[in-house]
Amino acid sequence: MNDIERNLQDIQISIPKDVTLVAVSKTKPVNELMKAYEAGQRVFGENKIQEMVEKWETMPKDISWHMIGHVQTNKVKYMAQFVDLIHAVDSIKLLKEINKQAKKHNRTINCLLQIKIAEEESKFGLKEEDALALLDSQEIKNLTNVHIQGLMGMATFTNDENQIKSEFEKIKTFFDQNTSKYPALKILSIGMSGDYKIAMDCGSTMVRIGSSIFGARN
Ligand SMILES: *Cc1c(COP(=O)(O)O)cnc(C)c1O
Repeated sequence: MNDIERNLQDIQISIPKDVTLVAVSKTKPVNELMKAYEAGQRVFGENKIQEMVEKWETMPKDISWHMIGHVQTNKVKYMAQFVDLIHAVDSIKLLKEINKQAKKHNRTINCLLQIKIAEEESKFGLKEEDALALLDSQEIKNLTNVHIQGLMGMATFTNDENQIKSEFEKIKTFFDQNTSKYPALKILSIGMSGDYKIAMDCGSTMVRIGSSIFGARN
């Protein structure tokens, strides 16, 4: 058994069946992704569109590709043909472009709204009130080819587990407060290598794990 296979097995044992594991393979070469694929992993996350496109072109076609990084509007077209879930949507402008490109390929593209939960200053993500305004907007109703399936958040990069926990609890509360009004919200994407156990305690339904599977990145 290789290291990647062993790491995957260890993680799979620690997450319940109803939590989706996204194997975050950014910066890693295709041969390492293939080790995870051969061990049964079918969901991969990348944070750069060009890199994801290259991997999609060469790898088996039954992989579900998730874009987990910040997306520039002018690059949506490169992944519109195949991307399965875009995690970090944070504007109506981006949603409109995703909708336009999805239409060209006769597809619906699944998206998550990124919510700003970290205390630290971060450039990305919506405030809760802005996410609600977006969900309630007239413009969003016209976007027939995007499907907003849930929320994504990133906790502050810190060793303080109490802080991480309170940030995850905050997004979980917001998620629970809105799932009855917006029944399409089913996914809560929180948790990475360092904090996925805390995230699962806080109700995560999707964890994005890189270095604990593939090893540290350079
Ligand atoms: C890189 C990355 C991850 C995975 O990070 P690890 O600490 O290696 O597990 C998860 N989510 C996002 C948005 C990332 O960019």
